[in-house]
Parts: sequence; C-alpha cells; structure tokens
Amino acid sequence: MEDAIAARYTASVLRSNCVSQAAAPLTANAMHYYRQAFLIMTNTLSSLTKGALRPMVTSEINTTFDRPKLGQSVHLVCFQYSCTIVNRLTGHAPIITASRARGNDAVEEHGLLNFTKDSGVMMEKLNGIFGEKGTRLCLIQSVTSKPNDGYTVKLTECACSYGQSAEEPACSYTLGVIIGAVQVITGVHMQGAEMACQSCGADTCV
Ligand SMILES: [Zn+2]
Repeated sequence: MEDAIAARYTASVLRSNCVSQAAAPLTANAMHYYRQAFLIMTNTLSSLTKGALRPMVTSEINTTFDRPKLGQSVHLVCFQYSCTIVNRLTGHAPIITASRARGNDAVEEHGLLNFTKDSGVMMEKLNGIFGEKGTRLCLIQSVTSKPNDGYTVKLTECACSYGQSAEEPACSYTLGVIIGAVQVITGVHMQGAEMACQSCGADTCV
C-alpha cells in the first residue's frame, strides 16, 4: 500500500455504475447480496455527505458486543461478497472511507495515537491488532519507511480477496484500514493505493 500525504476523499472520486449493474438479470441470492451492497453503499455515502467527508467515529459503532453462541467472527466469504460487489458498484472510495474509520478507531482503542513513526514498531503493533492474534484481517509482512514520511506495507492472507482472482488490486477494505491505522499511529495524514495484490498473482499485497 503506497502512500501520499495530506489528502482527503471527496465526493468527486465516487463513481457509480449502479444502473448497468442493476439492469443485469439477477437470481434471488444475487438480489439479496446486491440489496446488502446497496445498504452499505447508502450508509457510507450518507456518512460521507453529512460529516464533511470525515469517517465515522467509534461512538457510532459498538465494538464491544459479543454474540452468545456465534461470537464476533463471520465466514470470510460473506465479507468478500460485500467487498467485491460494493467495489464493483461504486468503485473503491466508499469502502476505503469506511475501513479507514475502522483503522483509525482500532489503533486509537489500543492507545496508540501518535505512538510511533518507527516502521518496525509499527509492524509489530499493527500485526497485534489486525494479525493472527488480533482481528485476523491480514498478516503484515513488512513496513518500510519512505523519504516523504510515507510507508510501504506488504501483507499476505488479506481477508478482502485471498483465494479470489482479480484483474486489478482488490483489497479496498484492508487498504483503508492500513491507511487509517498508519495515520493514527504516526499522527500524519495519509493516503494510499494498493499497487500489487495476491488476487492478481503477486507474492504479497503491496
Ligand atoms: Zn490485495
């Protein structure tokens, strides 16, 4: 995930091909997932427009609940349906905006606001939050600092697209989480893009 500094997402980056997608013949299951995708998209766009494009904050999402029998986990494929279809409908911006909020809040919840700019420490902390012992979003393999105060992050087993095939990098949710997390842990506003992806055959998502 490569960086650039001091940017914010604007409504102009949102693009919609909803009409052509919705016009395609749909099975009942597909209709269900499209409906879910539209709900997510609508909620995200609503958050974008009323909040001066700021991401949602922790107070709007309860992160402490636990279901009595099922716990907090859900099958990866369910998550990938959401990511894949929302990306297809709207482009990457809505998911990145939402997940950026998740990255912000997760790091802040761990008390790591403005904690470090050291890439090694950052890798350890982010793996603790999002890796095998954390939410299991992905495994962060390396964090490398760049001359412009940015970072290159390499990761594997990304929940967005692992096991899938794609023609272009497909890990929008994880990208947003990493951008938000790096931003909070360093105290530097970040923007980023996924330059390589395991779903496209690369060894790591970058
Ligand atoms: Zn990827």
